[in-house]
This record gives sequence, structure tokens and C-alpha cells, in this order.
Amino acid sequence: MDTARTVYDDGAVVVKGDTIVAVGPRAEVDAGYQAQQTIDATGKLVLPGFINGHTHVPMTLFRGIHDDVTLNDWLYKYIFPAEAKNVNEEFVRWGTRLAAAEQIRSGVTTFADMYYFEDAVAEETKAAGMRGVLGETFIDFPAPDNKSEAEMLAYTERFLKKWQGDPLIHAAAAPHSIYTCSQKTLQDSSALARKYHAPILIHVAEMKKEWEDSEKQNGMSPVQYLDKIGVLGPDIVAAHCIFVDETDRKIMAQRQVGCVHNPSSNMMLASGVAPVPELRAAGVAVGLGTDGPAGSNNDLDLMEEMDLAAKLAKITRMNPLALNAKAVVEMATINGAKALHLDKEIGSLETGKKADLILISLDEPNAVPMYDIYAQLAYALKASDVETVVIGGRVVMRDHGLLTVDEQAAMAKARDYKKTIATSLELQ
Ligand SMILES: [Zn+2]
Repeated sequence: MDTARTVYDDGAVVVKGDTIVAVGPRAEVDAGYQAQQTIDATGKLVLPGFINGHTHVPMTLFRGIHDDVTLNDWLYKYIFPAEAKNVNEEFVRWGTRLAAAEQIRSGVTTFADMYYFEDAVAEETKAAGMRGVLGETFIDFPAPDNKSEAEMLAYTERFLKKWQGDPLIHAAAAPHSIYTCSQKTLQDSSALARKYHAPILIHVAEMKKEWEDSEKQNGMSPVQYLDKIGVLGPDIVAAHCIFVDETDRKIMAQRQVGCVHNPSSNMMLASGVAPVPELRAAGVAVGLGTDGPAGSNNDLDLMEEMDLAAKLAKITRMNPLALNAKAVVEMATINGAKALHLDKEIGSLETGKKADLILISLDEPNAVPMYDIYAQLAYALKASDVETVVIGGRVVMRDHGLLTVDEQAAMAKARDYKKTIATSLELQ
């Protein structure tokens, strides 16, 4: 996934510490290095780890809590009350562990998260050896962790300071959206992030009601409103971007806003279809995300999002050329890195980048024959074909065996939480 999209039929990657020091044809690379440890990838695909650009990992514990409702109903009738009753630091830790296991298994090496107790998410992410852009949520009602904007600002400032310079964790601020945050909250949270050169994660133009209310209240679209109040910039990661017209797309490109497309979520909630081909044509970096995993997807499988992104664009335009396999693989890797403003660090296998790479088996009935790598990745291979995962030079899964997360414990805990959560909702 370098600029030339180079593919080596018989290649090698050399890793030293957490960094890639050479990539190329095996015969050439082999000659120059003596490895302490070698992973044989004969007959497999080796590619950059997938980047899940938008999710809420502790919500794994709410997986399937209430589906088949509108986003507005799901948020206000189910998830906000369920969170108020159940979410504490312990909950967030177990949810993150479960999500780390699920994501590593499906080849995700970096994810961007928005939730509460994000410092605990960061600690668990680091313990799992994963890379994260992790945003502490700002929202204009008492959250499970912080009860006021002042508390949110104080917590987030401590959080941003603590993780500065960490090789895996990028602490961020996450104002939830324009429909749950006042202008002041949006501006204060982004000013704080900018003070620490931290990314800002936000949901943008994710439902029609948000767009209609913005037109009514602000006389302009959500994107134009965020631009007007000074929030848009080259540190913004905007999830969804469904209701963005040509002017909005130009502004997003100008301000170098990263965008994350979440096809499963948009389909499941019937939110709408993001104009992905137009965003890409306007020069906006568009990555891919699972969103969810509760209510709006229910899993963290980014390979599925590649498949769905291509097919959703095709069917809504009745044009099979609308978005192709290569484009969605780009969105899951290098363009996802650009959307998170981390493309100097990750997204491709190139000398100097972090050694985040995955091995995918091609020795499965669904994996043969292979005419085109991109088509195979987008339409035929499955998360379960991911065999080995390396993040920052550390092997976190080898031959399907997780090395950094106790997934049995996490699964047992998830079943326990289900009982508690179900009881708490019945009491409502
Ligand atoms: Zn979301």
C-alpha cells in the first residue's frame, strides 16, 4: 500500500524494534539482514494491519442489547439509560479486552475509539499491544465518568498529558456530535485537544435529523457549522459524513478533515449512504470503521466493512464501477491512516513505518484460486483467515493463537455482564 501500490510475489519485510527497516523482493532483502526471529509467510498474504477508524469498543458488552430501532430511539431510549446504569471503569476494561481479542483476530491493528473512562480503554489497549486513537467523550449531559463539562475538561487534560509520546496510544478528545454538544463544548474540547496536538474525534452529519436541525438552528449544514465555529481542521476525524453536499465536501478537503465511512452501521440504522466516491474525488481521506459494536453493527470485523462499502456504493448507484475492491482495501489501510492523520506512521508496509502487519492464509476453500489480491481481500477472504498479527514489531497473534489477551476470561465476563445489564433494563 505504498504510493505505487507495490505487490511483491515473493517478498520479505524486515522489522527492527517497532519499525520496518526493509521491504522488498525476498532475494534482495534476505541478503542484507540476519534475523533473530523469522516468520515464514510462504503461500500467505502479508499486508499492513487494518485500521478501524471509528468504534466504541467497551460497547461490546452491549452487543445486541436492542436492535432494529432508529438511531435516535436507540440512543435516547436504550443506550444512554443502559450506560447510565452499568458503565463504570471495570465495565470499560472488560469491554475493551473483549474488543481487543475480536479486533486482533480480524486483523485490526489500529482502532479509533470514542467512549467514557477512555484512560482505562488506553491502558487495556496498550496491554493488548494494540495501537489506538482514543478519544474521551464530551457530551452535554452527565456521563458515566464525568458529570459536567468542567470535569470532562479536567479528566481529558490529565488523559492527554499522561499519554504524550506513547508509541501505541494517541490520546484524543471526542466531542460526541453537534446534536449532543453545545457550541461551547465543541470549541472548548477542540481547543484543549489542540493545546496538546491531539486528534479530535466526532460524529458528523450522521443522521438526517441532525442535518435538518442544523439547517433550522444554524442556517447551515453540520459541516459548515463546525467550520464556522472553528472546529474543522487537519486534526479532525469525522465519523459518518452522510449528509455532506458538494460545498461541505470542498470544505472538508480544504480543512484536511479525515472522514470515516461505516457502511454496516449506516445500513443497520438506515441512516443513509455517505457519498464515498464524491468524498474521495474531492480529495478527502476516507477510511473505514465498524462503529458499534452495539446497535449499529454488532461486530468489529473490518474486512466485512470493505465488502459492504464496495457493495453499498454499487447498489445505491446501480453501478458496479462505483467503488472497487482496490479502493476499499485502500480505505481499510493507507486511507484509513490518512483519515486518522497517522499516515506517516502506519497504513502501508514501507521502510520507516511502524511494523503493523498481518498474515492472511490463502489455504482455505474460500481463498482459492486468486486472480486479484484486492478482489480476494474485499470479496472472498474472511476475518477468520487472518492467522498472525504483528503490532509495532510485537507478535500479538500467532497461527490464530492470541498472545496478549485472555479471551476466555473476557468472554466469560461478557456473559456475566449480560445478566446484570438485562436485569438493570427490566428495572427501568
Ligand atoms: Zn459512533
